[in-house]
Amino acid sequence: MIRALTDAPHTDKMILRYEQSKEQSAELLRIVLARMGQHDAAFNPLTYSVWFEYAAGMNLQLTQALDQLLQTRPRLTDADMRELYQAYIADVDPQAMHRIGNELQQVMATLASAAGNTGSNANQFGAQLENLAVGLQTLNDKLTTPMVLQAIESTARMRDSAQALESEVRGSQSEIQRLQSELTRVRDESLMDALTQVFNRKGFDERLASMLAQPPAQGHQHGLIMLDIDRFKLVNDTHGHVMGDRVLQAVGEVLKSFVPSGSPMSMARYGGEEFVMLVPDTTPEECLKLAELVRLRTKALKIRDRRTQAVVLTITISGGLALQQAEEDAQTLTARADAALYRSKQDGRNRITCG
Ligand code: GH3
Ligand code: MG
Ligand code: MG
Repeated sequence: MIRALTDAPHTDKMILRYEQSKEQSAELLRIVLARMGQHDAAFNPLTYSVWFEYAAGMNLQLTQALDQLLQTRPRLTDADMRELYQAYIADVDPQAMHRIGNELQQVMATLASAAGNTGSNANQFGAQLENLAVGLQTLNDKLTTPMVLQAIESTARMRDSAQALESEVRGSQSEIQRLQSELTRVRDESLMDALTQVFNRKGFDERLASMLAQPPAQGHQHGLIMLDIDRFKLVNDTHGHVMGDRVLQAVGEVLKSFVPSGSPMSMARYGGEEFVMLVPDTTPEECLKLAELVRLRTKALKIRDRRTQAVVLTITISGGLALQQAEEDAQTLTARADAALYRSKQDGRNRITCG
């Protein structure tokens, strides 16, 4: 333990990002947990991510900043962790973030199963010792010399410590699982738009990267639909921002109604009153049909006064659609959909244009 902690954690041997053996990942987790124990920051996924990246030597800037901080401050607080996280982790590119998350999950899963195995080995060992103890006790009294008695006693002690080890291992196993699911929850939350409950821009970037990382099926293409509420400024100016927010929520609901759980499609709030849908493995006809249905359902929305239930406004939406050309990157695909959306606006709004 002492050796690992005094070693510079970012030496080559600790660069484990891509091929971590079971022993290496166990070592990494142990270092991270020990580091967390030495400081005042809460034991939460944010703190965990900071120490994980530090210990794994995967984030040079973070390592430098943290080392510098440690020279003046022996115990780091929640505020320190938050600052480090925001400055050096939150803004890493979405693909890297995705990979780190997956790797961390893998390390956790490996450890959880290693802990389970150790636990059941200890259990078996305990059972064997118990049999041995019973066997020794049933021997002829004459044979029960002090040496044999001592053996029985140490057998019982060993069995007890094996059982203690097992319950300790089980305890840390459930702690690892708890940490793992909390990490997933926090990560998911940071990717969602609080108002509309669809992905936010960061979530969109991640989903787009992962859609483009998978080649489409034979005869299919990946589609991106950019949508923008028409004359939304007027809604705010006429009915106020609160009503504007309700409109945004209603559009979010429309989008969600097209993406049942388990669907490969994703939708996101791209910015202010702009939304985007990702449609993997589609065809131009299918994708256009979907965009048209979204447009029509948005047009049919009736925003009512909460008190009187009278319809106070209806809205329309314009869209731009682009299907990924061979090898086209995320930026170019998004720009093409955006340009198509711009044409829809130019041509009079409340329409979908294919880019
Ligand atoms: P166009 O048809 O050309 O898209 O016109 P527009 O009025 O929709 O576009 P414009 O870009 O001029 O105005 C967008 C407005 O969206 C301005 C801004 O106040 C409003 N907006 C952006 N985010 C929010 C939000 O979170 N809530 C509310 N209520 N309004 C928002
Ligand atoms: Mg608009
Ligand atoms: Mg806009």
